[in-house]
Amino acid sequence: MITEFLKENAVEAAFIQKDENCRYISGFTGSDSYLFLTAEEAYLLTDSRYTEQAREEAAGFAVVDCAGKLADTVASLMEKHHAVRLGVESVLSYRMYLAFHEKMPEAVFSFCDADRLRQIKSEEEIAKIAEACRISDEGFRRIVPLIRKGRTEAELRTALECAMMEAGSEGKSFDTIVASGWRSAYPHGTATKKVIEEGDLVTFDFGAIYEGYHSDITRTVAVGQITEQQRFLYDSVLDCVLHIESLLKAGERACDVDRKARDFLKGKELDSYFTHALGHSVGLEIHETPVLAPRDKTILRAGMIETIEPGVYIPGIGGVRIEDTAAIQDDGILILTKFPKDFLCV
Ligand code: ZN
Ligand code: ZN
Repeated sequence: MITEFLKENAVEAAFIQKDENCRYISGFTGSDSYLFLTAEEAYLLTDSRYTEQAREEAAGFAVVDCAGKLADTVASLMEKHHAVRLGVESVLSYRMYLAFHEKMPEAVFSFCDADRLRQIKSEEEIAKIAEACRISDEGFRRIVPLIRKGRTEAELRTALECAMMEAGSEGKSFDTIVASGWRSAYPHGTATKKVIEEGDLVTFDFGAIYEGYHSDITRTVAVGQITEQQRFLYDSVLDCVLHIESLLKAGERACDVDRKARDFLKGKELDSYFTHALGHSVGLEIHETPVLAPRDKTILRAGMIETIEPGVYIPGIGGVRIEDTAAIQDDGILILTKFPKDFLCV
């Protein structure tokens, strides 16, 4: 994997710093550490807090204690391996770049996208994401009885996060969204003190983590009597999800899938209220590539994970989003989110 990666990026060495990429490539689960990759040898650069853990987890990697001298260490490894071209990630800070440049003025830096290595998931990774989905489903199942008028968004957020932890989550994937009533028109309305009222649509968007892998699910629940218009929004978004899930499979271009969702909502005259991408990949990070968005021309392949999350948001009235996480297969998808999507009124 490493030799191919270096060759594809036309570099003799690569400096990897994103935790998720370090973990994926080496197996090391700590932080504040880096990989230095060459065709001959792979190094894990860390400090005394992590050297023991690194030796245990990162089989095949030479563990180096940099003791605060990262730029010196990288420069000496570049020299040792006669490397000139160094692949770096987009997260390299300008400060670190300057430090590197000072220690190795001859080095030529080029961007390499190590995230791409993680796009196609193994069976084992898919099983972990499926478990994260099971945990978030279970967490939501436990708090549905608590959803009622008079509760605040923040109370339900706390209950949901606790329920996911009790069900086995290692943490929350991102700040849990609980957006009720007029706030449901905010696609990313994290929970506030707003009290849930009769006639509110309440959108919950949340995720669990299992062995480092994330899940991502959104469900919208009606509280008490809602209007015909609100029900129309729900049914339209649900039909859109079902439509996309019925046609999604390997071989489709990411941007075309997004287009099909927009076309579907256009048929309901709701496309102008669908203001974000249709979906994204999920793995060690909550947002990964490829994304189901107009700008992404990637051809989807078996083993990729995508969320399907169309939404419509009408200012002043409210919004609906429904989201599943699914694994792409040759002939369709495996939907990993099992919590029902049918209209739910409490
Ligand atoms: Zn989500
Ligand atoms: Zn999502």
